[in-house]
Amino acid sequence: MSLRHRKEKTMTTTEPGPAVAAAEAVYYPQPPTICRMVHYVSYGTPNAEYTSECRAAVVTEVLNPGDATLGETVGLCVLNPTGVFFNRTIAHDEQRSPGSWHWPH
Ligand SMILES: [Zn+2]
Repeated sequence: MSLRHRKEKTMTTTEPGPAVAAAEAVYYPQPPTICRMVHYVSYGTPNAEYTSECRAAVVTEVLNPGDATLGETVGLCVLNPTGVFFNRTIAHDEQRSPGSWHWPH
């Protein structure tokens, strides 16, 4: 599998004045593969002592590679600041619901 695709979008202007070049990174959806770094969304506690937060995670398995609907269900090694835990059958959700994973932002 190739490295994550990254497209640099460069803006230029023909207006007089200092040259303006702004780069905007655009990430494209792609199938997850083992060893990729993603975000896992932790669950908050019911009384909000802890809020739901993004945590760094490493993809440890892809449960249904190539499946159109289940191909983005993965196992993760989640790297919390105070410890590590492993979890399986985690669904992809770019809306960042608790208990899901998404690409880093
Ligand atoms: Zn995130």
